[in-house]
Amino acid sequence: MRILEDSEGPDPGCMDERGVTQEFATLTPPDCVAPLVEVNPKSVTEMQGSNVRAVCSASGSPAPEITWNLDWISTHHEVDASDTKSILTLTDLSPDDHGKLIICSAENMVGQGEATLLLNILFAPTIVELLEPKQDHHWCIPFSVTGNPKPDLQWYHDNVALQEQDHIRTMIHLMTEREYHGCLQLVDPTHIHNGMYRLVAKNKYGRDEKKVSASFIEPPDFGEDPQLPPLDDSVAVYVVVGIAGVALTGCVLMVIILKYGRNSKFGIKGSSSVISNDDDSASPLHHVSNGNNTPSMLKSDTFVQHIKRHNIVLKRELGEGAFGKVFLAECYNLTPDQEKIHVAVKTLKEANESGRADFYREAELLTNLQHEHIVTFYGVCVESDPLIMVFEYMKHGDLNKFLRSHGPDAVLMSDGQHSIMVELTQSQMLHIAQQIAAGMVYLASQHFVHRDLATRNCLVGENLLVKIGDFGMSRDVYSTDYYRVGGHTMLPIRWMPPESIMYRRFTTESDVWSLGVVLWEIFTYGKQPWYQLSNNEVIECITQGRVLQRPRTCPKEVYDLMLGCWQREPYMRLNIKEIHAMLQSLAKASPVYLDILG
Ligand code: AMP
Repeated sequence: MRILEDSEGPDPGCMDERGVTQEFATLTPPDCVAPLVEVNPKSVTEMQGSNVRAVCSASGSPAPEITWNLDWISTHHEVDASDTKSILTLTDLSPDDHGKLIICSAENMVGQGEATLLLNILFAPTIVELLEPKQDHHWCIPFSVTGNPKPDLQWYHDNVALQEQDHIRTMIHLMTEREYHGCLQLVDPTHIHNGMYRLVAKNKYGRDEKKVSASFIEPPDFGEDPQLPPLDDSVAVYVVVGIAGVALTGCVLMVIILKYGRNSKFGIKGSSSVISNDDDSASPLHHVSNGNNTPSMLKSDTFVQHIKRHNIVLKRELGEGAFGKVFLAECYNLTPDQEKIHVAVKTLKEANESGRADFYREAELLTNLQHEHIVTFYGVCVESDPLIMVFEYMKHGDLNKFLRSHGPDAVLMSDGQHSIMVELTQSQMLHIAQQIAAGMVYLASQHFVHRDLATRNCLVGENLLVKIGDFGMSRDVYSTDYYRVGGHTMLPIRWMPPESIMYRRFTTESDVWSLGVVLWEIFTYGKQPWYQLSNNEVIECITQGRVLQRPRTCPKEVYDLMLGCWQREPYMRLNIKEIHAMLQSLAKASPVYLDILG
């Protein structure tokens, strides 16, 4: 009579002899006692290679079955169990097990109890990875280091100890129990920074070092003789031109970074201007700046449609995102053939300068994205606060809620009253999946990297029409799906591949990984990936190369697709077009009966 909520087990709930579902608490027979469990010691701090012994004792009636969860443990282990206790012996402790919690659980027919043993294993540092420099926003020499206690890191550039400063410094992006992932970050390095970089990691148990060579930019060409001749006038001009050339290259790079490197949800590239419907229709006209617009809008070439506030009539609230509330509204004079249509309007609650800049960038981005599986963006209304974005209204809301309300739990919870809540069929799931894949093929063709593909960011319209619909506004409602790092940054780690978690590398291939997770969400009726694990455990799991299990209702072909999305090496992952084609043919092979959901 265990209550299980995972996709592999039976549905939650208990039945009495008449087959009626009852509250769990009312079913406990009076002479039964749920297990009480204790592990002794609760934690151990030992050197790598030592041996450890822990005892798990459990009471309860009837006598519970005691088990240790040792699936994840690399260290050699033995268990000696009797009726009321179980002794675990770990031999030759492996650093791989540092920080792990070993769970002892005891279960009888009344319930289940758990206690844990924490392993704190001391070991010398190892530099697991030191890679060649990569350029993202800044240059980065990525590394991963292990060691307990945390190793001290020292860099050497061409054998000279590097003094860290603002423009060259070690950044740790991610700390798991055992590993530190980060970068030596270099802001605008020049040829003088080229050379050999050596990383030394030390703690009181030992040291490790690794080298990598770095070439950021070619040295300026001073002619055949690399030794500079004495400065006569002509050479002086040459050198000045050379230096100016390097400076100019730097400036051009800066402009490129400023123009194209702005970090929107999608990695938006481009700039915009606003178009107003001054004549009460929404026809595109150049908007004359009233001084509220950001400079980027004036220098721009993307035409964002401007909608008059009096043309928008709010009806009811649909939800709330990080930027502000979302409303159902009627919008007048938006399309030539209809006087008014239903729209979803998103408001920006705190329009400070950077909030406004994000808002405009998002609007430019959305204006440029037009596809049948990307939610239609109609325009903005910026006459007064709050700033508003106007989207097509998708009747069934976000896909995650939709999946949950059409899954087995929803049917159970509906208590017979909501008979229209039909469980989704496999072919409907495939139909949903292939539409999202179609949207992603389009985004990849536009060289957009989404960075946050998840079912909470997709929307469902009539006749099971699904579109990718959210570009950064859903973080409040689904805050448990995100992992907060360094104060403000929120990362959707459960949807991210190892390279995005470790080095913040986001690419079309990392979107493919997320698409695999979206498939998993669809086939589990909207479960949270790794719902049984904490954020730190999820990071551990993903960086170690573990993948989500096959959902109970998932056909083998679809799970194989997921596995193709979750290859550790980005280049080994399936291509988005292949995924779309496969989903399309699977969906075609099992027809959808759309009328069920109407
Ligand atoms: P968001 O801020 O985008 O996360 O939106 C919050 C909630 O509003 C979502 O969970 C949806 O249920 C709903 N919503 C957002 N956009 C739309 C839309 N275009 N059509 C219908 N509902 C929407």
